Amino acid sequence: MPQPVNEFGLISKYFAPLADGYAGALGLKDDGALISVEFGYQIVVTCDAIVCGVHFRSEDRPEDVAARGLRVNLSDLAAMGACPVGYLLALAVPSGTDASWFERFSAQLASDQATYNVKLIGGDTVMTPGPLTLSITAFGQIPTGQALTRAGAKPGDKIFVSGNVGDALLGLKLLRGELGSVSASQAAALKNRFLRPEPRIALGQALIGVAHAVIDVSDGLIADIGHICTLANLGARLNISSVPLSLGARAVLGDVPDLLPNLLSAGDDYELVFTAPSSALETLSRISSDTGVMVTEIGEVVATPGVVVIGVGGDEVQMEASGYQHF
Ligand code: ADP
Ligand code: MG
Repeated sequence: MPQPVNEFGLISKYFAPLADGYAGALGLKDDGALISVEFGYQIVVTCDAIVCGVHFRSEDRPEDVAARGLRVNLSDLAAMGACPVGYLLALAVPSGTDASWFERFSAQLASDQATYNVKLIGGDTVMTPGPLTLSITAFGQIPTGQALTRAGAKPGDKIFVSGNVGDALLGLKLLRGELGSVSASQAAALKNRFLRPEPRIALGQALIGVAHAVIDVSDGLIADIGHICTLANLGARLNISSVPLSLGARAVLGDVPDLLPNLLSAGDDYELVFTAPSSALETLSRISSDTGVMVTEIGEVVATPGVVVIGVGGDEVQMEASGYQHF
């Protein structure tokens, strides 16, 4: 039997415990929260909204919605090199959403809070006649003046990516039942890459003073490299054969090779793409082993604007560079 919920009961039962340990949250009982900044630090703040039917599916579990909502925001903090501190949560829920949904949603937030060392410090809860919508504003801290940005790529920089590319898209396709013939364990791993993006927080912080330009892959590898290039008024050459693919992705591509371009323009991987000078190679391999995150060189920054994709045979490949756009 679904249990009805009321706003204040919800906040004290499910959300206030998530603020424990952050004094400035005032127990989620006041009109606002207090954020203290250590001397010599700046606050990095970012906001991402996810909407049912657009960014997640109505059949997704409350755990999946919670994890996605928080982690995509933490990924933005990672891309700036920030250390996550806390977040605000605005939740617009369709009436009729029952208590068990909030129970499971908040339990996943609690688990992710422990993993990423962040606290909920405030938010808003409203009913909506529309689809479930979640907006999270996350903040972190960074030594003043040290934030990594998308600007600053230099000609001759090498381009690197963390982790593997394209898994999230394949995971989504598997969830939709659009792909067959993958082993059960590979399918589970790919789905997990879509459902549980892994914000590269330690890597982001380690890239301070090393990377020239950083972005997290949310629009697609090619589009996001394009964003970095546009800001620097430069271009890029991306070597397809260097792009790191998971075993699962290789298995899928073995059956459906035509999917490769889709992997390069698919969003949702939330890996970091960054540029750094060749002289940083040794430092980067140390950072990779310290953080346990694979880092792969996939191309270089060039003077001529535009992102050129170089195929396996060394020839230029025509690609859709648009990436995923929500409108
Ligand atoms: P107000 O009417 O002043 O906006 P609310 O009644 O909306 O206050 O919220 C009361 C308190 O509960 C505030 O501290 C607010 O930050 C917190 N709060 C409300 N909804 C959420 C939520 N979804 N997550 C975290 N905190 C929340
Ligand atoms: Mg309110």
